[in-house]
Amino acid sequence: MALITAEEYKESLNDGREVYYKGEKVDNVTTHPNLGVCVDLMAIDYEMAEDSELRKLAVMEDPETGEEISRYYYTPKNAEDLIKAHDLIVKATELGDGYIPLAHDIGADALNAINITANMMGNQDYVDRIQNYRKHLQEKDLATCAGVTDVKGNRNYRPSHPEQAHPDFNVRVVEKNSKGIVVRGAKVHITGAAYCNDILAIPCRAMSEADADYAVAFAIPANTKGIRQVCRPFTSHISPLEFPNSRPVRVHTDSLIIFDDVLVPWERVFLCGEWKFAATMVYNFALMHRRTGCAYRIPLSEQFVGVGAAIAEYNGISEAPHVKEKLIDLIIYLETLKSLSKTACYDFVMRGDIAVPNPIATNMAKYHFAHNYHDVVKIVQDLAGGLTVTAPTYKDYMRPELHDDIDKYLMGNKNISTENRLRMFDLIRRITTSDLETICLHGEGSPMAERMTIYMEGAKVLKQCQKLVEEMAEIKR
Ligand SMILES: Cc1cc2nc3c(=O)[nH]c(=O)nc-3n(C[C@H](O)[C@H](O)[C@H](O)COP(=O)(O)OP(=O)(O)OC[C@H]3O[C@@H](n4cnc5c(N)ncnc54)[C@H](O)[C@@H]3O)c2cc1C
Repeated sequence: MALITAEEYKESLNDGREVYYKGEKVDNVTTHPNLGVCVDLMAIDYEMAEDSELRKLAVMEDPETGEEISRYYYTPKNAEDLIKAHDLIVKATELGDGYIPLAHDIGADALNAINITANMMGNQDYVDRIQNYRKHLQEKDLATCAGVTDVKGNRNYRPSHPEQAHPDFNVRVVEKNSKGIVVRGAKVHITGAAYCNDILAIPCRAMSEADADYAVAFAIPANTKGIRQVCRPFTSHISPLEFPNSRPVRVHTDSLIIFDDVLVPWERVFLCGEWKFAATMVYNFALMHRRTGCAYRIPLSEQFVGVGAAIAEYNGISEAPHVKEKLIDLIIYLETLKSLSKTACYDFVMRGDIAVPNPIATNMAKYHFAHNYHDVVKIVQDLAGGLTVTAPTYKDYMRPELHDDIDKYLMGNKNISTENRLRMFDLIRRITTSDLETICLHGEGSPMAERMTIYMEGAKVLKQCQKLVEEMAEIKR
């Protein structure tokens, strides 16, 4: 068996996993009124593979076996592979109305990071294990997520530091036996974990020798005994002003995953004590995941440009010079993100036999998106005006004694109906006043993480440029 259908994916989730949501233990995530919405979003990845047109992007033939596999689980070898995966992420996110379905991509970023690290270690056992695991994912078409971020405790101290309140803030190995390792700890903010099949866990930071027990990476089914998940709550309505909308609601949730002395069989252990390689793994994960993140922020950035242009027209201000300036800023924001994201793929670098996106361009793209996000939201909110948050609801609009007055008084540009103007306010309110602000800032790493990587990767650029000016100034050293 290779590819599975969206229905088969959903059925696979009814497996006894221990998931909690708003104080309740969830019996079946697929039928839960809120979590079911997330499952439907994740299922888009499987629906794409079933669609005659979209499958060209979502599916590819494994060159070794001739079997059809998800493009996400193919090992990228060149710019074309990276670009196709990039375009697949953008398309999937468009279908998710700005939310990435996430069934395979973040898991694939962790898979590739583990693969690169195993190759760099030269440890044939680990190389064989991760290649077998990749085959397993390709054959079963499993949905995966990446459990990277540990709860961490006091950020000022290392995982093993005696000043930490307890030793379990980062996931660690507490026992090794003939069957495998036993792990304890908690990962946090893990998107899609409640409705994926497997969790890939890797360290979230560099480790020292004293932290060797925390240098651990593994893959584990989400329904394994000892794993408990607590999901982030969210509001599952699509329309704050209650405008009728036939498009499905799209949203994800993120889990606090508690590993309560969980046994991981040896064949799924990919790092166990090799502390020097924890940094290699998390670094490569962050690199690939930031490229994924930049791709899935493109549709959201297009939405900002779209609502900015629309509401300027609906309010009748499109031709005002200050409005044009703001629209230019929106276009620059979007096009810079698109250019940097694609450049990162074309200007790829090889890590052994795996192509990875250009580190500086990738981190610049993610930093650009996160750093300027609030300014872009501010522009849209500014162009829209206060009705974004004060407009009457659809139910008030439809009351016979109010309808004509609301129609009359809340009109802007006479070429646009009041209902359409109100619908646009509704959309703006939805996409600019939500959890997205924090998601965009911290998802794929906080802005300082990107700046530090740019500094590290840019060391060569600093040297080259310094040499250039020293030559110009005829300085001999
Ligand atoms: C919606 C969402 C989805 C996410 N999905 C996933 C996922 O699927 N998988 C996953 O593994 N992670 C996921 N993350 C986690 C994300 O990568 C982290 O939020 C990010 O790395 C920041 O970590 P933190 O939230 O623990 O914040 P912190 O690390 O506590 O950062 C807060 C601030 O403290 C600063 N800081 C941190 N440590 C230090 C230090 N030692 N010294 C000085 N300053 C410091 C940071 O620069 C930042 O300004 C997700 C996050 C969000 C918000």
